[in-house]
Amino acid sequence: MEYESVIGLEIHVELDTESKMFCSCSTRFGEAPNTQTCPVCLGMPGSLPVPNKKAVEYVIRTGLAIFCDISLFSQFHRKNYFYPDMPKNYQISQYDIPLCIDGHVDLEMEDYATTIGVTRIHLEEDTGKLLHIGGAGRIAGADYSQVDFNRAGVPLMEIVSEPDIRTPEEAKTYAQKIRAILVSLGVSDCNMDQGSMRVDANISLRPVGREEFGVKAELKNLNSFRSLQRGLAYEIERQTKALQSGEAIVQETRHWDETKNTTSTLRTKEYAHDYRYFPDPDLVPMEFDPEWIEGLRAELPELPDERRERYMKDFGLPAHDANLLVETKATGDFFEAAVALYSGDAKIMSNWILGDLTYYLNAENVEIDAGEVKPAHLVEMVDLIDDGTISGKIAKEIISEMFKTGKMPKAIVEEKGMTQISGQDEIAKIVDDVIAQNPDAVQEFHDGKERAFGFLVGQAMRLTKGRGNPQLINKLLKEKL
Ligand code: ADP
Ligand code: ZN
Ligand code: MG
Repeated sequence: MEYESVIGLEIHVELDTESKMFCSCSTRFGEAPNTQTCPVCLGMPGSLPVPNKKAVEYVIRTGLAIFCDISLFSQFHRKNYFYPDMPKNYQISQYDIPLCIDGHVDLEMEDYATTIGVTRIHLEEDTGKLLHIGGAGRIAGADYSQVDFNRAGVPLMEIVSEPDIRTPEEAKTYAQKIRAILVSLGVSDCNMDQGSMRVDANISLRPVGREEFGVKAELKNLNSFRSLQRGLAYEIERQTKALQSGEAIVQETRHWDETKNTTSTLRTKEYAHDYRYFPDPDLVPMEFDPEWIEGLRAELPELPDERRERYMKDFGLPAHDANLLVETKATGDFFEAAVALYSGDAKIMSNWILGDLTYYLNAENVEIDAGEVKPAHLVEMVDLIDDGTISGKIAKEIISEMFKTGKMPKAIVEEKGMTQISGQDEIAKIVDDVIAQNPDAVQEFHDGKERAFGFLVGQAMRLTKGRGNPQLINKLLKEKL
């Protein structure tokens, strides 16, 4: 039997506010443990929460950006459970009246487009962090645990998708797009390494053609877009095998192990009624002035979809390039800064950014705005190609060097004597040598084999150590042959 996967993502995002959700403690990351706490976020009896308006605004902004209905009346609930990283033994969250409902995100896949529904976006507070000592950092086998409440009470937004996602690739594209939107909105830095964006993936399988959903598993500990994709791929394999051998899938939460490349049971699923949700009596419901919301809508910045359209319209880029350039806000910003400095065709800039530069960034796992190569580096390099100083082949070496040292291309060219050989006489002599040394290829060329010509050009480039002007080599070789 053939199965189709059904995937829904729950994305938690720490909002970029100065202070926490219900107190005035700082949200700064990386401070000494338990230095950013107060009676409210430590859950002391008698302390009272006061909502952070900025956080509410950020959630509504997000809802507007992904076409949600905004609730004019909303409320906070208590979600009751015990865990040592949560001092109150309940989390202030939202239940039946979240701030935003019924949105959607359009995805441009390589050769089709699709739309993913967003069920809801709600606002809650983050928990503290447990540090397990011994036992390789996992709770099982640890000698003891330490708790840091700096994160407790940081505003957390949860974006819940409909089960509209069908492949791991779509899941990754959806999560990346959500990140690009949130970064454009300025509501979060969405740093997955630091945990300010956390993706949980729900996945079930069903026989192709069947409407009804199967039993799902929820995957946790997906710490990068890559692990999201790999975790889902693994889970599809596991569930397919189970279903094919007639085993039932258990509804449970599973832990993705990045090094072992597998998922394992973390806990069987809890249900909403286990949490005994009730409205938080310390917090009055929120009512919004529609005008305030329309004001937020009017202030929305340019979003990835609009940016993509603009790149196609104003710069004449193909959809493929435009899609990749808007994948992160930083990439689009880099591209625009480069185009502003460059007088040639924007497509050339796009090629270098999406080609060689991305290659090095990915290989070293560096973000484009954190790398040594700035737009000015790339533009100076392309200018050197345009004016004939260097060949495209040399440029590839220069990118690698700029990436390592941050030196400007002109300085690298001078230092390493990489200028292009464009002297008629010098190239002519090299072409003569190539013809003399390769009689077989010359014969093949005369017999009509086009490939032999390419081979001879390659030999000439080799003799010039990649510095020969390719156009000139082509021209002289053709003449002499
Ligand atoms: P739960 O009650 O387990 O929290 P929800 O209905 O709240 O489940 O959904 C949580 C997430 O799981 C949502 O993103 C939703 O789209 C997704 N989801 C729900 N049912 C399924 C299913 N059968 N297969 C895959 N994903 C699902
Ligand atoms: Zn506090
Ligand atoms: Mg749920």
